[in-house]
Amino acid sequence: MDKNQIAWNEKVSAGIVENLRRRRMEGSYAASAAQARDEILSMIPAGATVYRCASMTTTGIGLWDTLADLPGVKVIDHYRPGLSPQQSMEQRRLGMLADVMIASSNAITLDGRLVNLDAVGNRVAAMTFGPKKVILVVGMNKVAPDLDSAMARVKHYAATVNALRAGYSIPCAETGLCSDCGSPQRICNVWSIIEGQMAISEGRIHVKLVGENLGY
Ligand code: SF4
Repeated sequence: MDKNQIAWNEKVSAGIVENLRRRRMEGSYAASAAQARDEILSMIPAGATVYRCASMTTTGIGLWDTLADLPGVKVIDHYRPGLSPQQSMEQRRLGMLADVMIASSNAITLDGRLVNLDAVGNRVAAMTFGPKKVILVVGMNKVAPDLDSAMARVKHYAATVNALRAGYSIPCAETGLCSDCGSPQRICNVWSIIEGQMAISEGRIHVKLVGENLGY
């Protein structure tokens, strides 16, 4: 990454962190994925239960391999190989009671709003309520100027690329474009826009912005 991109990341992330604070959420910036991973690991209390939500970002930075080795940490992972669909749904329910949830956000606006779109809804449900701490790892490629552009990014880029990754038989996996389908495998069913936290939950959500292109 050249020095101008680095400078942009630093300037823009500082503004977002300040706007998150105004919304009673925490934010911080790491210049690299490796730095972000180490800082997140240091935030996990010994013996915590950690809910792993679907995220190319957190997988890509190698978080889960290291996290599983932390003392006493138990990872709740509904994508664990060998789970039946019923067992996978049960893990999603268990995740709602975890000490910590770790995921990404599909987009973040310059004024600090978190915009997400889920297939089942467990990820946005846990972001909203349940786990005592929510850590969201967000590459600076997911920054959008405003709510409209954030929602467009999520619907017309993140969702369709995720459809390609999942290999589902849905129109966007064929064309790369959304046709607002009614498929039973539709991956975009539940919108969430987090505008902030009440005082009782102040600091519950921590957004770790990362100065790299991560995830979709
Ligand atoms: S509505 Fe259908 S076509 Fe559009 S992104 Fe969602 S799954 Fe793909």
